[in-house]
Amino acid sequence: MSPVIPIRAETTTGCTDVTPLVQRGQREVFCGLTGIIWLHRKIQDAFFLVVGSRTCAHLIQSAAGVMIFAEPRFGTAIIDERDLAGLADVHDELDRVVHQLLNRRPDIRMLFLVGSCPSEVIKLDLSRAAHRLNQLHHPAVRVLNYSGSGIETTFTQGEDACLAALVPGLPSANPQVPSQNKPQLMVVGTLADVVEDQLRNLLEQMNITVNFFPPRNSQKMPVVGPNTRYLLAQPFLADTAKALQERGAKHLPAAFPLGIEGTTAWLQAAAQEFGVSPLLFEKVTAAPKQRAEKALAVHRQMLDGKRIFFFPDSQLEIPLARFLHREMNMDLVEVGTPYLHRQHMAPELALLPTGTRISEGQDVDLQLDRCVEDKPDMVVCGLGLANPLEAQGMTTKWAIELVFTPIQGYEQAADLAGLFSRPLRRREKLAA
Ligand code: SF4
Repeated sequence: MSPVIPIRAETTTGCTDVTPLVQRGQREVFCGLTGIIWLHRKIQDAFFLVVGSRTCAHLIQSAAGVMIFAEPRFGTAIIDERDLAGLADVHDELDRVVHQLLNRRPDIRMLFLVGSCPSEVIKLDLSRAAHRLNQLHHPAVRVLNYSGSGIETTFTQGEDACLAALVPGLPSANPQVPSQNKPQLMVVGTLADVVEDQLRNLLEQMNITVNFFPPRNSQKMPVVGPNTRYLLAQPFLADTAKALQERGAKHLPAAFPLGIEGTTAWLQAAAQEFGVSPLLFEKVTAAPKQRAEKALAVHRQMLDGKRIFFFPDSQLEIPLARFLHREMNMDLVEVGTPYLHRQHMAPELALLPTGTRISEGQDVDLQLDRCVEDKPDMVVCGLGLANPLEAQGMTTKWAIELVFTPIQGYEQAADLAGLFSRPLRRREKLAA
């Protein structure tokens, strides 16, 4: 028997029919270049070349911490004043930079040209550049492009744009290979290797073969087609999901694998699709559930009854709010999301308490006013807002940390709770 998990039961349909508070104004959020930080760690033979300005180079270098690697897997081709003034042929310059890079780094098998605000301003056609460079460097290197520009994307949308760019090139099933011609599971969204290994292990114990997208190696892209059933591991992949559907793949709707409840629901969606018996499901999940429950109890003491406010950053806010409310007994003051994808969020919305204030998009000044007035115990926000809010006596959590840290699955549930309980404990100690 698995332990009874103290998950709050809501008696209604939750927030399924919620009308979010929609405000448009100034936004305080990173651009999509940020995704390079976790993407380059995942696809280990890929290189991300930002075609941008010194500001872009500073952003990814500071987001990645001090560059200690002699050969990092991302860089910036700087567009300077001459390029902006149209005095140089930017395509020639780009070809030269790419040529130099690939000569120096023969280990690169996949090159992403990543668009930015400056490349957008000068209307540099990166898809044309990628096409040309592909022909020049074929077959050693595959060149793709996507935009991480702050004009077009926020924060986690960079990953969505990157994965969506990869989908058209995914291999189709080979009719000669029987295993490729029966339903197969694909998990979509970048996960830390340790999380990927754990989830793979659980699924394989249920006799489900699974492929992860993106893979660790660009040469091992998963097959996609009408036999693909995919689970989203991250909530910010709207364009990727659309591209997969266009290749015939079928989405398995589920809550996201955060906390015990989310992880169980997520695994259950796969189990149901692949005909796993309830007995086997229970057998495989009982022990990790029990471990997670034990580990969560410590954090629940600290979080119980605390009030939390989310600014919109990563699109992880709604699943996080569901976990913190239902498993940690936190009260939700406002749950901001940069974009509300009704379909992908449906299983999550149903689990939130009816009447939760959900906001979509941002007018940062108005939202700050609400936050100050509400006086929450904890605020999840971007780096730029954290210091001013701390100065007003609030405890903050950087949204970006929640994307960098392995938080999915049973074994990470307590680490996830710890990201919220630790700052509160620290503040209590300081106040004592
Ligand atoms: Fe700034 Fe735009 Fe470069 Fe992002 S892409 S760092 S928003 S200039």
